[in-house]
Amino acid sequence: MSEKKKPILELQDLHTYFYTEDGVVKAVDGVDLQVYEGEVLGLVGESGSGKTVTAMSILKLIPQPPGKIVKGDILYKGQSLVNMPESELRTLRGNQLAVVFQDPMTSLNPVLTIGEQIAEAIRLHQGLNDHDAQLTTIKLLELVGIPDAAKRLGDYPWQFSGGMRQRVMIALALSCNPDLLIADEPTTALDVTIQAQVLDLMQQLRDKFNMSIILITHDIGVIAGNADRVAVMYAGNIVELADVIPIFKEPKHPYTQGLLGAIPSINSKRSDELVTIPGTIPNLISPPSGCRFHPRCSKAMPECSEVRPDYIEITPGHYVRCLLYGTQLENYKIEKKAELK
Ligand code: SF4
Repeated sequence: MSEKKKPILELQDLHTYFYTEDGVVKAVDGVDLQVYEGEVLGLVGESGSGKTVTAMSILKLIPQPPGKIVKGDILYKGQSLVNMPESELRTLRGNQLAVVFQDPMTSLNPVLTIGEQIAEAIRLHQGLNDHDAQLTTIKLLELVGIPDAAKRLGDYPWQFSGGMRQRVMIALALSCNPDLLIADEPTTALDVTIQAQVLDLMQQLRDKFNMSIILITHDIGVIAGNADRVAVMYAGNIVELADVIPIFKEPKHPYTQGLLGAIPSINSKRSDELVTIPGTIPNLISPPSGCRFHPRCSKAMPECSEVRPDYIEITPGHYVRCLLYGTQLENYKIEKKAELK
């Protein structure tokens, strides 16, 4: 489905590093990714895998220093964002790209009313006068399911529940009519029932406005019913990318298999233990040699610590970074043998 559509966003060999006193943190280290018009792309991985840095790189919100995009490009509708002047970027961020963060309480201004915050964004991005901005604010709050929206314009963020605040954040993001919405762990701080409502709302808005959404989460279960395609990130790289059904039915990368194995099943018996991935995300100042996942991988072979796997397409639209697939391992063994002769 997605292949027929145009990519709205393309990351090409993106490298974002942080220069710290302890060394260079290679937070995003060669990411290739396309986001198509009107699709929801799930970006999944453990904390520290590089998901948020990827998102912040797209928005060019990486604190510089210590961060820097050192290599690669970000194309939005064919235009490079990496070399775009800040003034143009600001216009783009305000009018086409929007973001919803995990914790709406820290993203909303506590001393301004909800109505003032949204109306200000509308005046700024849509150039409307005070009266029209207020009418649009009410419409947006109604659209995201705030009951009695007109009466709640004068309320402050603390007068809203967590789920309602997240709806306000989505309304704020929609105030600029974005073509691309980046939702970074938008439901992590919410109860499961409210989480389902917020995810459902995002789907409805995607369908209504044909918006593209990058849905970032550490919870692969959230992706199942909410994404068209899934990119799995590990230690600064995408290790698997495919449509959502193949990822869930037949995950190829041992890390994706591990993430899925860690989801409790409704059929599990009480005595069944959840499968866990041993160890933790590596230090990205000095990541493991070869495949970065090898110290934690149950299928690791001796060559996995020597060869960095290429990112290859194993079936149309299904990409994997693992030596178990393709011919890279075989070629390496032949080369090794030839060297020894
Ligand atoms: Fe595991 Fe080796 Fe594949 Fe890495 S390359 S995921 S260590 S099997």
